[in-house]
Amino acid sequence: MSERLLIATTALALLALAEAAESPAYAAEDPSDRVRSPTAKTLQIVQADAQLAPLVPPVPQPARRPAQTAAPEPQLAPLIPPVPQPAVRPLRLAAIPEPQLAPLIPPVPQLARRPLKRDSKSIHLLACLKPAARELLDRIEGEFGPMEIISTCRPGARIAGTGRVSKHASGEAIDFEAGSRKGDVVRWLIANHKTGGTMTYSDMSHVHVDVGQYFVALNAYSGR
Ligand SMILES: [Zn+2]
Repeated sequence: MSERLLIATTALALLALAEAAESPAYAAEDPSDRVRSPTAKTLQIVQADAQLAPLVPPVPQPARRPAQTAAPEPQLAPLIPPVPQPAVRPLRLAAIPEPQLAPLIPPVPQLARRPLKRDSKSIHLLACLKPAARELLDRIEGEFGPMEIISTCRPGARIAGTGRVSKHASGEAIDFEAGSRKGDVVRWLIANHKTGGTMTYSDMSHVHVDVGQYFVALNAYSGR
């Protein structure tokens, strides 16, 4: 009898072991272990859940596409601001004419020099000058530019206060305005005009030059 009990207990023990050995297989059927087990059962389970699986990927895919479409939207959003920017640009274009007005300022000093340019009256005054006087004026204007001719030939003119015949009477003297160049012109005459006279006056702004005897008289009183 003891042997039968041993056999019986052994058989029970084997059955218990067999159930224990199969228990992992049953446990594999648990949903929590389906992903872990790469067995055929899990493949079948995956096929069985294939309907559920597709539902998962579609969700992220649509989620990505909206993200892509959402990206273009922010690009479209910047396109809207450019519309108000053009409104600002016209203001800048309106500001451009201002620098164009700035160049108009330099022409003003040019206009100040225009009175010194040779006019028809000056040309007429130069016609009576003797060649030496005309050459003197050409030297001056060649150095400093055109001068405004005030007076040249005055027939019968005499030097004020002396009674002597003026160089103006013989067409050998020129009175001219040099404007802002007066100082430079007078210094140049003192240094370079040794075949005649150079005079400036305390009561008149013009410069007198003549050909003949060399002399320099600055800031002289005209006697007029
Ligand atoms: Zn003079």
